[in-house]
Amino acid sequence: MLRVGLTGGIGAGKSTVANRLAELGAVLVDSDRIAREVVEPGTEGLARLVEEFGDAILAADGSLDRPALAAKAFADDESRRRLNAIVHPLVGARTGELMAAAPPDAIVVHDIPLLVENGLATVYHLVVVVDAPVEVRVRRLVSARGMAEEDARARIRAQASTEQRRAVADVWLDNGGAEDAVLAEVDALWTDRLVPFEANVRLRRPRPPMPPKIAEYDPTWPAQAERVLARVRTAAGELARRADHIGSTAVSGLPAKDILDLQLTVATLADADTLLELLSDAGFPRLAGDWGDDAQDGSGTWPKRLHVGGDPQRPVNLHVRSTETPAWRLALLFRDFLRANAAERDDYRDVKLRLATAHAADRTVEAYADEKQEWVNGAFARAEKWAAATGWTP
Ligand code: ADP
Repeated sequence: MLRVGLTGGIGAGKSTVANRLAELGAVLVDSDRIAREVVEPGTEGLARLVEEFGDAILAADGSLDRPALAAKAFADDESRRRLNAIVHPLVGARTGELMAAAPPDAIVVHDIPLLVENGLATVYHLVVVVDAPVEVRVRRLVSARGMAEEDARARIRAQASTEQRRAVADVWLDNGGAEDAVLAEVDALWTDRLVPFEANVRLRRPRPPMPPKIAEYDPTWPAQAERVLARVRTAAGELARRADHIGSTAVSGLPAKDILDLQLTVATLADADTLLELLSDAGFPRLAGDWGDDAQDGSGTWPKRLHVGGDPQRPVNLHVRSTETPAWRLALLFRDFLRANAAERDDYRDVKLRLATAHAADRTVEAYADEKQEWVNGAFARAEKWAAATGWTP
């Protein structure tokens, strides 16, 4: 199952996008609808609200009088807290039930206006944000939904900012133009990304082999890595000692293959194995085989586990290393050494570009990676000297 979080400011077009995804085959979980359902007449939720706020919150027909509840519950922070303490767990439980009821190969789209406000981004495999300029949203809310302009603006102001949404968005859908334009983007998102992503995770499919192709340094790599790392930390929970962006994409100004290298550090390889299914389900299938790094003490190989990101449009290698060997520390040292020493970084860049050209016709990156490792092993010795001189620690 693939979990997609769909959010966006009011009037941006979230429902429009959600409906299209449902037409394409997604299982839609609508949080606004759930929030209404859990306080319908006859529910435990409504009974508890009446207990807490009195029966003046009921309309003549016994249903919830929302403005009356709002007047009481939004009067002060304490009242708001009491309201949330009743409603949030009920919404959470019902959401969990609906998600669990979806078939194993479902692409579940959770339409949730307050995804950012509630800090929920990391529980999804992918976060999709629908956006449109504020003035466009106000116009739509006034003309299509009959909202008063001041009301529309007040609601927009109370929500997360565009910057806060950008920080968690894996996919940014600009719906400032015609509806057809955004729907075409949704169709492509479904076919090119969500469908293969779901299959990659469920079938534990590795990434197809590719030749070494070096891209210019992308200044958005660190933010992209941070989003993925947040998911890794959530999935690994207490077994994560730390999780870091490593490798060339973590060094500003260094061209690299457009694959984010991430490192999850755990205490033991047994912990890494405990995480096999959790990480795989979270979107990072483990690659079969014995993976390891050249041991710098001449002892052969330092074993590790290797997972890859299932998202076909955001290639990720997730190296799970234990603190039983020094490889985790070396990855961080190498990154920080290159960040701090521009001449070394440029040397490394030249080596990579030369090798990528030499191996451009290869089917896989193996020969490229082996030859590159020779330079890296030499750099480790210089990095250790640098660490000793500067007092660097991981
Ligand atoms: P949200 O769920 O984000 O609040 P909706 O999907 O309900 O937003 O869209 C708000 C209103 O704007 C709806 O009436 C919708 O039909 C309309 N709308 C959505 N996208 C567009 C668009 N690209 N152009 C014009 N109107 C749109």
